[in-house]
Amino acid sequence: MRYISTRGGMPPRTFREILLEGLATDGGLALPESYPRYEAADLARLRKLSYPDLAFDILSRYIDDIPAADLKALIDKTYTAAVFGSDDITPLKTLEPGLHLLQLSNGPTLAFKDVALQLLGNLFEYVLAKNQGELNILGATSGDTGSAAEYAMRGKRGVRVFMLSPLGKMSRFQTAQMFSLTDPNIYNIAVRGVFDDCQDIVKQVSNDEAFKTRYAIGTVNSINWARVLAQIVYYFKGYFAATKSDTEQVSFAVPSGNFGNILAGHVALRMGLPVRRLILASNENNVLDEFFRSGCYRPRASADVHQTSSPSMDISKASNFERFVFDLVGRDASTLRKLWASVDGGGSFDLAGTPFAAKLRESGFVSGTSTHADRIAAMRWVHQRFGVMIDTHTADGVKVGLEHREAGVPLICLETAQPVKFADTVREALGVEPASPPAVRGLENLPQRFEAMDADASAVKRYIEQRCR
Ligand SMILES: *Cc1c(COP(=O)(O)O)cnc(C)c1O
Repeated sequence: MRYISTRGGMPPRTFREILLEGLATDGGLALPESYPRYEAADLARLRKLSYPDLAFDILSRYIDDIPAADLKALIDKTYTAAVFGSDDITPLKTLEPGLHLLQLSNGPTLAFKDVALQLLGNLFEYVLAKNQGELNILGATSGDTGSAAEYAMRGKRGVRVFMLSPLGKMSRFQTAQMFSLTDPNIYNIAVRGVFDDCQDIVKQVSNDEAFKTRYAIGTVNSINWARVLAQIVYYFKGYFAATKSDTEQVSFAVPSGNFGNILAGHVALRMGLPVRRLILASNENNVLDEFFRSGCYRPRASADVHQTSSPSMDISKASNFERFVFDLVGRDASTLRKLWASVDGGGSFDLAGTPFAAKLRESGFVSGTSTHADRIAAMRWVHQRFGVMIDTHTADGVKVGLEHREAGVPLICLETAQPVKFADTVREALGVEPASPPAVRGLENLPQRFEAMDADASAVKRYIEQRCR
């Protein structure tokens, strides 16, 4: 399997060559040359597999430059009941017939990003050891990516993590989870600004090729292809758990921010999984909902980002979205480059009235927006009706999912975090305290370690230089 760039300017590369990189060399995003397809007979076989075996079957079609036995060992070491709480890894909880929660948040940081990042930590350590290399991971987070990355990389040989987060804008629990880590290879940088300022700094530093090479800068942001890859697995797992035969269709409701999670659903669909609809849920920052309803993609200025009670979806532009649009325009890099010339210049594009509008309607995607009042109502509804607590992001997915629910089509809502991570809003909605898993009790009382900085790429560079001497 070879990987190409959405902007068409990168010679085809192998998985290991793109694993440690963020943006492709031409500023685009890496994608496989094609998506391997599963036929009906394959689905019957996959249905019987355990999570790690399913993961190996899928991942080995995209990764052919790690020996199969090594890849298998890395996957088996990652997806264990000890790390994810059960052998199912991502158990399906049925609320009522035809309505399910796919529980993706049973990993160490209680959010779905662990599913991908725990694997990434093991992949990075393996590849760096083979290459005798070092890696300085530079990332931006609005909460869950950062903690999941740090918990995946803590103590890993050859890796340092420099994680930028918007100062004072994460939940108390998220802040405690990240800033209480004392591992010497973990550095928390709290930026005076919003998430997009953090993301822009990462881009600026990564665009400085000399600096990037000298300090072996890598990324674990949601644009990392291996993360998308790892997430494809649970769409298959969820499908098999919610159906009895391989001819049934299901729909997935996905609370979305940077478009990484639902992109994996799109790839699963393209691989032959019988998906009827991919239901994208936005919060008040609904740039993606606007696109899927109108065809117009109009990223916001970072000053226009609302701070919401589902903060991990507070984005102004969706970093993975370019991959989807590349597929939508028939993988024509020159069309993609034209669209992104406008986006990268602070503008927008509109597919309404172009031949791509019809393609968009056939893509399987539908969407909706959920507000604070909506998510509170969804949390109450699920609690009162089924006795189950859900977090604010999952609630956005449930709200929009129900709007698009169809009779006879199972609806699988992805649970992306546990309620305890957003306890203030849970209390507001339900009047009760969400239960704390034993592993995280007392976290908020631990001492915190971070460096506060202005939104200035050169200051961040200096900080990294000093730590890499
Ligand atoms: C990251 C995150 C999301 C958004 O996922 P994307 O892949 O960025 O679309 C939703 N919910 C939670 C809890 C998250 O951490």
